[in-house]
Amino acid sequence: MTRVSSQQLLKSINQQKVLHLIFNEGPITRVELAQRTGLTQQTVTNVVKRLMQESLVSEGGTVPGRGGGKPIPLMVNSSRLYAIGIEVAVKYVRGTLVNFHNEVIGESRVDNEINKHEEQTLDYVRQVVRELLGILPDHERLYGIGCSVQGLVDAKQGVVIRSPGLAWRNFPLREKLQHEFGFPLFIENDVNLMATIENQQGLLSGAVNSLIFKMDYGIGGAIIFGNQLYPGASHVAGEFGHFKTFTGEDALPCHCGGRGCLTTLASISGLKGNKKLSLNEFNRKVRDCDAEACELYALISKGIGLALCNLVAFLNPDHILLAGKLIETLGDLLIPELQRELKESVPESCRNVRLLHVQQEVNEAKLAAGLVMKHFFEVPVDSLAL
Ligand SMILES: [Zn+2]
Repeated sequence: MTRVSSQQLLKSINQQKVLHLIFNEGPITRVELAQRTGLTQQTVTNVVKRLMQESLVSEGGTVPGRGGGKPIPLMVNSSRLYAIGIEVAVKYVRGTLVNFHNEVIGESRVDNEINKHEEQTLDYVRQVVRELLGILPDHERLYGIGCSVQGLVDAKQGVVIRSPGLAWRNFPLREKLQHEFGFPLFIENDVNLMATIENQQGLLSGAVNSLIFKMDYGIGGAIIFGNQLYPGASHVAGEFGHFKTFTGEDALPCHCGGRGCLTTLASISGLKGNKKLSLNEFNRKVRDCDAEACELYALISKGIGLALCNLVAFLNPDHILLAGKLIETLGDLLIPELQRELKESVPESCRNVRLLHVQQEVNEAKLAAGLVMKHFFEVPVDSLAL
């Protein structure tokens, strides 16, 4: 690891403080920046000069009604800074090129084949990144690639620990792509990413302690504790899919080596693998009141309810957010039942929990591009421990 001299470090912390504030609150004047950061006017002037030389920041014209000589507000050149976001799902790889205003400049998508080997999905990711790079004329202005991955991810190390659907096990995704493309690369588990963004600026912005579950091809979960993502001792907290839910003859073997896990029935892969049903077929049959499908639906709904009630009694969250294709498809039936179950079954002391759900598909590639922006504007507080 490179040691940074304390003077350089201070310079970079000051620079990030100023840049962060201009991005979040611009247009903002140098005087306001000095007041808000506690830095001297001279330091702010020097930092802004550097940022303008790098074309990251520009003067945003005068405020109407003001004459010459008045302070000129500053803005980040968001429309000329770019990020790529990639969603690595089991069935497809999708990429989005956005500017820092979050405007989509270009998109690309490749369907991911089943029975893949580890390099195959990586090839699809490469293909999508190359296509997006082809759209962008000035690669100097691209500040990184963010990847959202369905599977267990060690975001710090940039390694996919395990993704059964992608055939990735201890797969050094960041190293492989960063080496090839030369841009900073950030990876995060899809549910952790959604939890973080929803907590910052979405459905969970009023929440403090929440649980997030995505029921999709597989099932993933995330825990937000005190507005921070709780990673667990080895970055795998939130394995909601392997909650032991089904018993007796309904306890089917799971790919984790256990039996009766929630994912064996309450996920797209579970329905397909164990009941030979696609999600659409299952949905149609349930709505047509097919007896067998309704029985299976009741089992799944009861299973999810049981798992949620146990979690609420144990962790006392203020919010639960459900997402994923299973919820998008069956949410109108499931959510009222789960709400009733929570009201009736959890201890009275935790009944104020609010159950929310994502109704429309989220553009996870765009969320992944947000990882690049998050890191770009981050004040390097960690470095203070050097
Ligand atoms: Zn399992």
